[in-house]
Amino acid sequence: MIFKSGNLFITLHCSILAQYFFSMNRTFLALLLTGVIFTFNTCKKDSHYIDDQNSTIISARIKSTTVLSETFEAGTKTAYAAANVTFSSGSWYLNNALVGNSASDRKFNTKSIRVQNIGSVRMNFNVTSGAGVVSVYHARYGTDANGTWEMWYSVDNGTTWTKTGATITTSSISLVQTSFTVNLTGNVRFEVRKTSNSGRLNFDNFSITDYSTTTPTQDNNMGMGNPSGAQANITFTTNYLMVKPQYSLSYNKSRGTANWVSWHLSSAWLGSSNADHSFTSDNTLPTGWYKATSSNYTNTGFDRGHMCPAADRSLNTTDNTATYVLTNVSPQAPNLNQIPWNNLEQYCRTLAGQGYEMYIVDGVTGMGGTGSNGGVTNTIAGGNITVPAWWWKSILILPNGQNDVSRVSSATRVITVVMPNTQTSGSQTWGYYRVTVDYLETLTGYDLWANVPATVQSSIESVVDTGPVN
Ligand code: MN
Ligand code: MN
Repeated sequence: MIFKSGNLFITLHCSILAQYFFSMNRTFLALLLTGVIFTFNTCKKDSHYIDDQNSTIISARIKSTTVLSETFEAGTKTAYAAANVTFSSGSWYLNNALVGNSASDRKFNTKSIRVQNIGSVRMNFNVTSGAGVVSVYHARYGTDANGTWEMWYSVDNGTTWTKTGATITTSSISLVQTSFTVNLTGNVRFEVRKTSNSGRLNFDNFSITDYSTTTPTQDNNMGMGNPSGAQANITFTTNYLMVKPQYSLSYNKSRGTANWVSWHLSSAWLGSSNADHSFTSDNTLPTGWYKATSSNYTNTGFDRGHMCPAADRSLNTTDNTATYVLTNVSPQAPNLNQIPWNNLEQYCRTLAGQGYEMYIVDGVTGMGGTGSNGGVTNTIAGGNITVPAWWWKSILILPNGQNDVSRVSSATRVITVVMPNTQTSGSQTWGYYRVTVDYLETLTGYDLWANVPATVQSSIESVVDTGPVN
């Protein structure tokens, strides 16, 4: 049976997990997994020594994001007298203006703003991530004469206002878009001011792109929370917190690997370091705990799968080398490691090059994977290292900036994936494996993004990302 769609994957995935949790029959799980996924014919060479350090780093370029898009469909105002109206973006003040829905109103969909005399249309709120370009469509109302208008902005919550660009003359009876490049950081709001008494005008589809010149920084690797409440206390044998300059992790002595690794990514972490690739034991583990060695993975059919990728810590040799410590590694099917998992890692670095910073947590769960030797392997290293059934990852994405927790909103993009630790996982793109954070939280028992206010978590954790994949 071939998985044809994300939905089908989720459905099967749920039933597989249900089997996993409720029957605890791992052989059945493995058979089910093996049976439902079509055979992927690998063209890779033996890859035990290959890891995921390759990267494409795009030089810093600020990609604009639409931070406000107002269609004026949601509000109603039938008279010209000054009043506030709530639209989908927030409250707007309409003076000598109304929400027009007549046949003579030029509009997208069913409504637009109609302004008469020296009227205006003003935001009662700020966009908070700056404004790069502000755009609005405009046209003459009905058979009215031409009219003129101006775009104004305020960076002090509406106390003082500044005109931007030229005075515009509207002469068309079809909606045309005019854009103003303002490049203002921080809080900003806008007002359209009609400047001619003659000629009623329609305005519609008002939009603002963000603008940030913020220098990227290296932020707290656990800035968005500690998913499992790990503690740096050796009695926490299955949830032992290890904080390193390059990443933080929860170590599980019974698995012989981390449960999860958490790190911050921005272009401030990126450079050209590509250190020697020798994997080393983590000698900071408590005395008497098993310490994985590189040779534990040799000929197992599994890659030494980086959790925090080497290429995410490429600013200097120290950082890069730190990712080769084996507490940052778990057994990963080569086709998983080198295809969808690697592509998702590269996508994150692409975003870092486009002016975004990310908080990333990934981890392993379940037992039993299928590497390049075939079959199902539950453990390696004589039972000391558990081969996970699943690799998961969640990525919270923000434009570069400060006070990151406070900037997370219901609009914040979060990408979450759960991928089976099998060779066949390489036959799908990473986008195929997207799930909700809620799903991942149920799977693992963790609370992702725990530092984010609960109401915001509810929003961002209940949706499957549908954004771009490259
Ligand atoms: Mn930041
Ligand atoms: Mn959560």
